Amino acid sequence: MERVIIAHHHEITLKGENRGFFERQLQQNIRRSLGDFLPATSIGGGYGRSIIYLPSRGDEKRILERMTRIFGLANVGIGYKIPQDIQTFCEIAESLLLDRKFETLKVDTRRPDKRFPYSSMEVNRQVGEYLCNRFGVRANLSHPDETIFIELVDGVAYIYRTRLAGLGGLPVGVSGKLVALLSAGFDSPVASWMMMRRGAIIHGVHFHSMPYTGVASVDQVRQLARVLAQYQMRMKLYLVPFADVQQEIVLHSPPPLRIVLYRRMMLRIAESIAVREKAEGLVTGESVGQVASQTLRNIRVIDEAATFPILRPLSGTDKEEIIALARKIGTHDISREPYDDCCSFLAPRNPETKADIHLVRQAEGLFDIPAILAKAIDQLRVEEFFLSPASQTELAE
Ligand code: ATP
Ligand code: MG
Repeated sequence: MERVIIAHHHEITLKGENRGFFERQLQQNIRRSLGDFLPATSIGGGYGRSIIYLPSRGDEKRILERMTRIFGLANVGIGYKIPQDIQTFCEIAESLLLDRKFETLKVDTRRPDKRFPYSSMEVNRQVGEYLCNRFGVRANLSHPDETIFIELVDGVAYIYRTRLAGLGGLPVGVSGKLVALLSAGFDSPVASWMMMRRGAIIHGVHFHSMPYTGVASVDQVRQLARVLAQYQMRMKLYLVPFADVQQEIVLHSPPPLRIVLYRRMMLRIAESIAVREKAEGLVTGESVGQVASQTLRNIRVIDEAATFPILRPLSGTDKEEIIALARKIGTHDISREPYDDCCSFLAPRNPETKADIHLVRQAEGLFDIPAILAKAIDQLRVEEFFLSPASQTELAE
C-alpha cells in the first residue's frame, strides 16, 4: 500500500487538440514545483490525473501546500494506492475513518478504468453499506460529514478521505508571456496572479523614484514578486528608475495631465521590455472608475500609447473582491503596508478624468520619447525570485 497524492486536472479535458500539450506542461510544472522534495520518477499520471508517490511522510504537508499553488489542478487528495478489490476498499476506508466523529457518509467512486467488473454505483453501494454498518452512520449523498473517494485507474485503485481544493485555471506556460506593471498596491499583484491562472508566464516591471522615494517601496514590490513566484516557480522583476521621466513630465506639462502622461510612458517602457521578452501583451491592475486616472476615457487615452494588447483582468471588479483575492493569494498583508508610490510623489492635486488625446499628444511633443525610452532601458535592473526553499514556504492559506 503506497502513500500517494491524487490530483485532478482542471479544464484540460475541455481543450481538444491542445490536451496533450497542456497535460505535459502541467506535469512539468508539478515536477519543477516538487523538485526539491521528490525525484521526477515519483510523479506519474494519466486519465486527467497526476499521481505523486510520497517517499516519507515528513514532507507531506509541504508537498500538499505546493500542490495547492499549481494552476491547472481542480483538487488534490491524499491517500493510498491499493489493489482493485472491494474487500480491500472496505478495510482501508474503515481505517481512514477510525478516529473521525461523523453521522453521515458518502462513498464517491470514479471508474475511468472500465475493466473493473463492478460499476461505480455498485462500489459505492457495497463499500457504503459496509461502512454504515461498521460505524452506525447513515448515507447522505448531498451533504455528508465524511466522504471516501475511490478511483479505479489503470489496473489499480486510489482511495482517500482528505481532499483540498486546487486553484483551477490553466498550467502556467501554456498561454505565452505577459509583462505586468507591478506596483506595491493591492491591485496589480492580483491582476498578475489572475493572468497566471490563465496560463501566462508573468514578468513584472516596477517603476520607482529612488532616490526621491525610499527603498522600502521597492522592497515591498520584491516581497510581492516573491509571493507570486510561488505560483509560477520563478518570477522576473524589472526595476526601472522613473524619477527623471517624471521630472521631465512635471517640467513640461499641465499638472492635471501628469498621471496620464506617467502611465503612457510606463506603458511604452513596459512594451519595450515585452519586445525583449517576446511577450504577447501587458497587464495592469486598473479597475474602471476606481480612481480619477482610471476612467474609461483615460484608459482609452493611456492605451493609445501602446501597440501591444493591455489586459486588465480587474477592470470589472470591486475593491472588496480584489482584497479578498489578495488574501487568498497571500499578497494582502504586504500590499497593506503604506508605501511611497512613484505616482503619488509628484501627483497633481486635480488629475484629469477626461483626458483629451490631442492635448496629451501636444504635451508629449515636447519630450524626446525615444531618448527617454533608451535611457530607461539602459538603466533598468532585473531581479529574479524563486520558489521558497522546502524548509520555509510560509504563505497565507
Ligand atoms: P495598484 O493597487 O496596483 O497600485 P492602484 O489602484 O493604486 O493600483 P494606480 O496607482 O492608478 O492604481 O495604478 C494603476 C496601475 O498602473 C497599477 O495597477 C499598475 O498596474 C500600474 N502602476 C502604477 N504605479 C506603478 C509603478 N510604480 N510601477 C509599475 N506599475 C505601476
Ligand atoms: Mg497604486
